[in-house]
Amino acid sequence: MTETLCGVVLHPAGHTLSPVLHETAYEELGVEARYDVFDVPAGDLEALLAGQRQRGLRQLSVSLPHKQAALQLADRCSDAARTIGAANTLTVQEDGSLVADNTDWLGVRGSLAGFGDWSGRRALVLGAGGAARGAVYALLDLGMRVAVWNRTPERAEQLVRELGAETGARDSEHDLLVNTTSVGMAPHGGDSPFPAALLRSDSVVFDAVYRPLETRLLREARAAGCRTQDGLEMLVLQAAEQIRIWSGHSPDPSRMRKKGLQALGETAEIVR
Ligand code: NAP
Repeated sequence: MTETLCGVVLHPAGHTLSPVLHETAYEELGVEARYDVFDVPAGDLEALLAGQRQRGLRQLSVSLPHKQAALQLADRCSDAARTIGAANTLTVQEDGSLVADNTDWLGVRGSLAGFGDWSGRRALVLGAGGAARGAVYALLDLGMRVAVWNRTPERAEQLVRELGAETGARDSEHDLLVNTTSVGMAPHGGDSPFPAALLRSDSVVFDAVYRPLETRLLREARAAGCRTQDGLEMLVLQAAEQIRIWSGHSPDPSRMRKKGLQALGETAEIVR
């Protein structure tokens, strides 16, 4: 049996967790697949695809800075990818066509599933980049009222115009706070995108940053009495959905998470 070729494209590659998550799932599902890392600078995605498709590439996970280019290079795309304006998944179909999907938003939706019904409640999203667009799409899909704050206000204004949310200040009332900025990410783990004094003890705080797993924002949120969700869950769930798209099988996210924790060097789960 020949191996299915999959992989992730990004730049810089750093220490991406994607291989460990995908390989854990392949092992569990018993699929013969390999997952390569392609460190390719912006502008070179088309050339990479041409070469790897000749090698039999079946699916590519797409990360920064290629998510918009991936959407443009595809023959077709899902409604979610079109609305979000970015693709994190490219799949080569049996007929050779290239289909773009976005599974980041499903990672956000799944990460919030354990906190009850979000319909009609208020979310404040920090950031207006690619992760923010997926998050806003997911929160609107959950029926939430969504406000967006960004360091560069013009980007927030464009995002809310395109996706149908509102802009908001950091002291806006909210039931859910979502950080999609890169603030707090290693090696700047001592930074937080949100003043601790504005944390609301009755809210849930979700940080898309997963390295470190316990960001300063999550630490301060727990100290303020908030319930919290780390970014590893989103990473696991978006990867599990990518595997379901090409293989038709759904891997066990808890197994993937366990391996992800080990790869991050975490010895124990954070207690919510
Ligand atoms: P991006 O498109 O480059 O957007 C970066 C965002 O961070 C922008 O809103 C930017 O604001 C803001 N930002 C950067 N430095 C800032 C600072 N010093 N102060 C305030 N805001 C700042 O990146 P992205 O793809 O959205 O990713 C953002 C974060 O989400 C990264 O940490 C990434 O690892 C994480 N992420 C996690 C997952 C997951 O599965 N858990 C998936 C995707 C992304 P400006 O517009 O003002 O520059």
